[in-house]
Amino acid sequence: MVREPKLYIVPLGGLGEIGKNMMVVRYGENILVIDSGLMFPEEDLLGIDMVIPDITYLLENKNIVRGIVLTHGHEDHIGALPYVLRELNVPVYGTRLTLGILKEKLRERQMVDEAKLYCVKPRDIISIGPFKIEFIRVSHSIPDAVSLAIETPVGVIVHTGDFKLDQTPVDGEVTDFNRLAQLGEKGVLVLLSDSTNVERPGYTLSEKVVGQTFDDSFRQANERIIVATFASNVHRLQQAITTAYRYKRKVAVVGRSMVNVVNIARELGYLKVPEDILIELDEAGRLPRNQVVYLTTGSQGEPMSALTRMASRDHRQVEIMPGDTIIISATPIPGNEKLVARVIDQLFKLGANVIYEAVSGIHVSGHPSQEELKLMINLVKPKFFIPVHGEYRMLIKHARLAREMGIPESNIFVAENGQVLELSRRSGRLAGRVTAGRVLVDGLGVGDVGNIVLRDRRQLSQDGILIVVVTISKESGQIISGPDIVSRGFVYVRESEELMEDAKGKVKLALDKCSAKKMSEWASIKSMVRDDLSRFLYEKTRRRPMILPIIMEI
Ligand SMILES: [Zn+2]
Ligand SMILES: [Zn+2]
Repeated sequence: MVREPKLYIVPLGGLGEIGKNMMVVRYGENILVIDSGLMFPEEDLLGIDMVIPDITYLLENKNIVRGIVLTHGHEDHIGALPYVLRELNVPVYGTRLTLGILKEKLRERQMVDEAKLYCVKPRDIISIGPFKIEFIRVSHSIPDAVSLAIETPVGVIVHTGDFKLDQTPVDGEVTDFNRLAQLGEKGVLVLLSDSTNVERPGYTLSEKVVGQTFDDSFRQANERIIVATFASNVHRLQQAITTAYRYKRKVAVVGRSMVNVVNIARELGYLKVPEDILIELDEAGRLPRNQVVYLTTGSQGEPMSALTRMASRDHRQVEIMPGDTIIISATPIPGNEKLVARVIDQLFKLGANVIYEAVSGIHVSGHPSQEELKLMINLVKPKFFIPVHGEYRMLIKHARLAREMGIPESNIFVAENGQVLELSRRSGRLAGRVTAGRVLVDGLGVGDVGNIVLRDRRQLSQDGILIVVVTISKESGQIISGPDIVSRGFVYVRESEELMEDAKGKVKLALDKCSAKKMSEWASIKSMVRDDLSRFLYEKTRRRPMILPIIMEI
């Protein structure tokens, strides 16, 4: 019997979560990676800057990783590349804008020279090992997004990337329906499709709708206009600039990431900017208030962002005045609702007119709603179906939707990161697991912060710390100086003198106990001090600060 060739699909990120997307395709001794994204940390990851996929599986198979193909330039698809390429400098393929944004990231880290970047465009077909990869244009909230059709010896994989089926995209670049339909006609083995918006019925509105809303709000504005949106949403920036031009206003761009995107997109021709419309911030400050539009970051209420600083009157160059119009052209990402609400409140307090979420058409999603997801399945007509890019409930709902579309239950796979999916021409099954998970990035450290460090940070953030310093005589074991107690984040020491004196007393008692028992192990003496003091403080305050005993011997 001839063994049937097997294809393996291994998600390393983006399943059961929104973000850090990374998918592995393996055939024999060949691995192809799709995307390499990051995720912004949730609140409980104290001090963590970003989260990236665990690529142990790729490093274990270093010699057979043939390349990385990118679907588009969002952080959750390219943000981990500087870290991945440092360990695994393989060729990277992406469209022009995607590579433009990536290059900027690599340049900041002096990595651009050694990176092997290859530019592709929609309908290009490239060969990587046994894979033939075709790039297919789709609409999304960033230009130059593509789906991938990967021809393998077992069959064709279609990976949608992030997409929406916008019939009137701002740049006129409509999703390549024809090509998707042709692929479906020829036969597709498996479809991996974006689940982000599966909970929304109907169709996602066209980006054009936002342009109409901009027009309405710009027409009614008498003072300054400030538009906050995602830095990478070039279509949105384009519509704001076009509308500003129509109302004879100049535009100033605020916030580093937005300045970066505007420069790259403009240079590469994705952003059409009328002559002389862009001005510097100080110039904007001198112009009459009804002749200026600011484009800014901070639509998520991020504490350090330009909009948040303006709202708390903390921005050096932009002061919000009564009558200003602030347009927040975004919906809060789950988890950011409170931050955004606080910024909106502050802006209202300053007398501004804030136009946000509640106004329809001020933001549209970049992801497909149910009817678009169905259309994708009908165009591609896959044998197998794998929902990707979504939290667990979304994957389940997307699987149900595929079931309703007639794909048999046994051909639909809801997988988790690290689960291996084995496909032949006829059948598929979940076949074991590989290492997958998250790696935390904090400052320059990659992966050096784990559960223990996080637990300490959590304890410090909840009840603070107490440092106990005692000097003991080597000969007699008697206390020579101290105990002294230093605390941070526990109680306000000046108002808690009595508590601190009693705490010192407890430490002395604990040390006396140790010397009476003739204990000489430092570790056990310290833990005695820690336990006794901790019990005492809990009785008195119902708090459990971290206690660090420092015992010196002279
Ligand atoms: Zn995206
Ligand atoms: Zn995404």
